[in-house]
Amino acid sequence: MKKDFLYLKIKSLIIISPTKLFFKKIKDALDLIQKTDLKEYRNIFSRLNIIFITNKNGYTNEFFMPEKIWFANKTLIKNNDINWLASLIIHEAFHATQFKNGKYIFPLGKKLEKSAIELQKKFLEKIEGKKVRKETKYLIQKKYWEKIEDDKKSLSYFRNLLDLFQNKKIKLSYKS
Ligand SMILES: [Zn+2]
Repeated sequence: MKKDFLYLKIKSLIIISPTKLFFKKIKDALDLIQKTDLKEYRNIFSRLNIIFITNKNGYTNEFFMPEKIWFANKTLIKNNDINWLASLIIHEAFHATQFKNGKYIFPLGKKLEKSAIELQKKFLEKIEGKKVRKETKYLIQKKYWEKIEDDKKSLSYFRNLLDLFQNKKIKLSYKS
């Protein structure tokens, strides 16, 4: 498992990445959020502490509370466009509002996703109009997180990384 990563700080948000290639994409996505919806942009920084891009291939991602860390496998960042990434960041950050005392308010899954997807859709409509993306349909049809639940390897990989990170066993170098 890779234990040395690069990091970058945007306001209070820390971006951790296996390569500097992904920083621009995340920055562009944040810029787009700022340009499109200033309120959501400000929300990002209270809802999300860290975006942790792993060195693992695949699209699996998971948001951790109370740490407010979003883990995303690198293919997800690499193969998605800025609009979608921006909307996904809003979606994931929103999950932070669905916790109380470190626990999900709703049982994990359905209800929780519905309002996050709704917010994500609203954002995408602001940029792209009313057409619904195939990615959004995929999310709505729940295939997305069913697939994620299938990917047990990534989920334990994220937990492992979180553990290493909290025990300061991840080597972080500032991206210059
Ligand atoms: Zn979600």
